[in-house]
Amino acid sequence: MPRGGKRKGAGRKPVEAEAKAPNKERASAILAGLSLTDEQWKKQGHPDQEPPPFEEPNPKRYSTPQDFIQAHMDWELAKRCQCEDCLWRRDAQSDRGAREYLWNRRDGHSVRNINHIHDKPIDLNVNVSMADVIRDIRTRKQEYERNRK
Ligand SMILES: [Zn+2]
Repeated sequence: MPRGGKRKGAGRKPVEAEAKAPNKERASAILAGLSLTDEQWKKQGHPDQEPPPFEEPNPKRYSTPQDFIQAHMDWELAKRCQCEDCLWRRDAQSDRGAREYLWNRRDGHSVRNINHIHDKPIDLNVNVSMADVIRDIRTRKQEYERNRK
């Protein structure tokens, strides 16, 4: 039973990357979830959706990629439901690249491999260069800003 109350996600092991790439059905379901409110999404089996009590870390505020990645992991863990559907839904809500990935999955098109923010703990485990991860995040953010205009 709950011990230590609000200590969320402590010691949680990263999920395995490869097994989690959404198939056509899950991509469809996650995309459909984007048109639901959080309240409706909660009723679909993800009861805990409270946002973290602090802002998403900004890479510019960290002097090293490691610091940023750690801060971002902490931020992710501060969010409640950590299932893949919720992680993907959150990514897709804020990131056009993630939506495109899911559209392609759903429609059976080939997909470009992308590093999702929520995959960073996995990248750490396989020794992907931190700098590469950060560069990728920045590039995708710039693409996102451009596409929005
Ligand atoms: Zn969930």
